[in-house]
Amino acid sequence: MQEIHQPIPPGQIGFDIDCVVADTMEAFIRLAGNEHNISIVPEQITDFTVENCLAIDPAIIDAIFLRLLDDPLKNELRPMKNAVPVLKKFAHHAPLTFVTARPDRTPIFDWLEALLGPQIMAEARLVAMGDHNGKVDHIKELGISYFIDDRFETCEDIAAHGISAIVYNQPWNEKRHQLPTVKSWAEIEALCLGQPGTLTMPEPS
Ligand SMILES: [Mg+2]
Repeated sequence: MQEIHQPIPPGQIGFDIDCVVADTMEAFIRLAGNEHNISIVPEQITDFTVENCLAIDPAIIDAIFLRLLDDPLKNELRPMKNAVPVLKKFAHHAPLTFVTARPDRTPIFDWLEALLGPQIMAEARLVAMGDHNGKVDHIKELGISYFIDDRFETCEDIAAHGISAIVYNQPWNEKRHQLPTVKSWAEIEALCLGQPGTLTMPEPS
């Protein structure tokens, strides 16, 4: 089983964006309500592939995600609680690293820049892969040793290739893996800037 020793140097850790830095599910639920009159509660989203857990026309689901991919600023994609102040603190120590499955880099770069400022983003590394698979190759190329993602399959793949993967707790990944988890940006801050220690391992399920 994987163990994470603290503190993690901020320059050694990378982040997925959707549902880790960005509260993509909040935006999804809001747009479903406002644009399509469909009400969803967060607890209903129990699968990363939302088509699998919501009785909604997949074309509507695609249309909502497309809005969030194409124009996260206009669609008011919000950051997760405390993500911005913690990332700003990390950026004092080292350039930030993001690897996203999103296909287009520019819209999400602009979103990050609006939140973190041009100075931080001029230094930051942002890879938009356009694919959910193969993140580990990019992570290795970027030379980081730790990565936080909400897709447990991605984390398992990364961990299998010798990178320390940390799952950001979400309803669609809970109890589906044996990897270390975090549930907030306060916890991520403590992992990197807190006291030495070892990250709590999940309860065996
Ligand atoms: Mg994600």
